[in-house]
Amino acid sequence: MAFILGILVTNVVPAGAEEHADVLLQAGHEGRPASCARFPRRPCNLGAPGERQMTPLVADEAARRLRAAGLVVARVPADFTQHYRVRAAVFIHFDGAYPPCTSGASIGYPPGSAAAARAWRAFYGRYFPFRIMPDDFTAGLRHYYGYRSVDPNSNTLVIEFGEITCPAQRAWLVPRARELGELLARFILLRLHG
Ligand SMILES: [Zn+2]
Repeated sequence: MAFILGILVTNVVPAGAEEHADVLLQAGHEGRPASCARFPRRPCNLGAPGERQMTPLVADEAARRLRAAGLVVARVPADFTQHYRVRAAVFIHFDGAYPPCTSGASIGYPPGSAAAARAWRAFYGRYFPFRIMPDDFTAGLRHYYGYRSVDPNSNTLVIEFGEITCPAQRAWLVPRARELGELLARFILLRLHG
């Protein structure tokens, strides 16, 4: 009976508790606007047109492949209350720009993940045929709210896979959602296993 109670108790995770996983994957903007009501002080950013449809496709494919490789993946939407201890945390986005085609792919990271950002730039630059903007080039990338939901680790990145408001980039990105997820999974495995 004590054994059974132990199982029951450990399965009850209070809001705000720390959860352990190997990798946290967030699909940017997923679940909004419905989830915004629970976080009234957080801007209810719905993303660029088409972005909210793309990020779950990339996140789900990356999660599927990482789990197939034996990793524990926490796959979260835009708004969540848990805090995570992980070895890698990737927040998946696509950029929107006005006027269109003034942006590209980009990378955001908190202090401590500069090496991971450099590695992603080199890795993704071999596939992405458009420009990659300077790291942390917007305040949103420098101070992304999701950074606070994970313990410091050396692989915390906001990845914007491209500018979805630019027709040429959009035409390249949209048919490749699963491929982008596969690329991301390969990159994370390289970071964690070398
Ligand atoms: Zn976004």
